[in-house]
Amino acid sequence: MRIAIGGLHIESSEFSEYRSSFDDFRVLEDEGIVERYGIYAPEAGDAIDIVPLIHARALPGGPVTCEFFAAWSERFFGLLEQAIAEGGVDGVLLYVHGAASVVGMDDVEGAIAARVRELVGAEVPIACAMDLHGNVSDELFDAVDYLTCYRTAPHVDEAETEMRAFRAMVRLIEERPHLHRAKVDIPILLPGEKTSTEVEPGASLYGMLERVIAEHGLWDASIWMGYPWADQARCHGAIVTEGTSIAEVRAAADEIAETYWAVRHEFAFVGPTDHEAPAIAAALVSERQPFFLSDMGDNPGAGGFDDTTGFLRELHEAYRAAGSEKRLTYASLYVPKPAVRADDGGTLELPYEALPMLRGRELTFLLPHGFAFTATLERMFVDAMGGEGAVLANGNVKVLITQARTQFGTRRQFEAAGITLEDEDIVVVKMGYLEPELSAAAADWMMVLTPGAVDQDLVRLPFHHLSHPLAPFDGFDFDFAPEVRVR
Ligand SMILES: [Zn+2]
Repeated sequence: MRIAIGGLHIESSEFSEYRSSFDDFRVLEDEGIVERYGIYAPEAGDAIDIVPLIHARALPGGPVTCEFFAAWSERFFGLLEQAIAEGGVDGVLLYVHGAASVVGMDDVEGAIAARVRELVGAEVPIACAMDLHGNVSDELFDAVDYLTCYRTAPHVDEAETEMRAFRAMVRLIEERPHLHRAKVDIPILLPGEKTSTEVEPGASLYGMLERVIAEHGLWDASIWMGYPWADQARCHGAIVTEGTSIAEVRAAADEIAETYWAVRHEFAFVGPTDHEAPAIAAALVSERQPFFLSDMGDNPGAGGFDDTTGFLRELHEAYRAAGSEKRLTYASLYVPKPAVRADDGGTLELPYEALPMLRGRELTFLLPHGFAFTATLERMFVDAMGGEGAVLANGNVKVLITQARTQFGTRRQFEAAGITLEDEDIVVVKMGYLEPELSAAAADWMMVLTPGAVDQDLVRLPFHHLSHPLAPFDGFDFDFAPEVRVR
């Protein structure tokens, strides 16, 4: 049994100026793929021969460059064609996120799946495992035999989902069933911070899947929330069911769709959320410390560029106006080329290696988007994702800058920068809901509706290509009758 495995895993904000390319992707080939995915083979795995294609995965970012996608495609489809020529393949397994954008392309995963179908023909099964924040276009749905996604957000069932797809692939090859599948598009688009499955209505909605699968005798049933930061017609919720009875897959998809639509008003931010001014005011007067503020619009974990300074500027102004002496840390800003104002008023760029010699001198650091921050360089540090970093301090206000995009989600990262969370009064991070260690450390917190490439207030973003009607853009109360697409 020869199963070809590969994929492309990224979520790309089309509202980001960042371009994801060669440096952003971690690439697996050959043995790397066999080791990574071979663990999902059933016990009698000896009969399974994994044919490694290429798998590339990146942090959420901006659209993928044409150059990277062309190189990836050449390798991926080249290896697939070679495998077909040299011994054939019995199945193709795709591991993708589902929200990739490539400059100039609208439906990356659909195009990949369609090309695979062209190459392998109608008889060879294709299975695909995704993130529930991916999108399911008709093209993708039509091209694959089996499609599944995570059932938890935050995602704690990634391995389970990957295994489910692997096992389904093996069954498809062994049993040669006539597998039917149904898809319903749900006209709602939600930001990630409203789609937690740990709280209602997500908990019950995703919680119904096991029951529906059992009651309708399905192979699988999945719910996608979709990715809201791409301006594409495929961005919205979706449901897919698979089973051997066409009536059952249709009925199950319909049932889940009705439930999804019925709870559409109930999706809410998973924690205290407000706009900039009230959030800043709350943090400045709070006696609970550390008070965490989450600068959500620039969250690199969802595709933010990690360089907006609007919120920092507003926070710093309010801090000074209040005469505050609170200890405040802003983590962090992506500053690939640090610059300071030169004595003659011009700009002096300094590589990270040269920064230590500035230690102790008060300088005006020229941060992104015209934010001039007068500070002394307090400390250099190294971050696993962010590379070289520096702590810039103005009194009790510290701003962390890093050479590459990163997100300060763990205590260890702060400690590397010389910051003990409990010693701070206010800590600003760029994420949505707080990562577990930060959440445990927070005496109080608020998610802030800041603008940016992953603005959580979707109606503020300049969309042009979404399919309508779509909540929240057209309100939540238009008529919706589920249309079931069956294959
Ligand atoms: Zn996700």
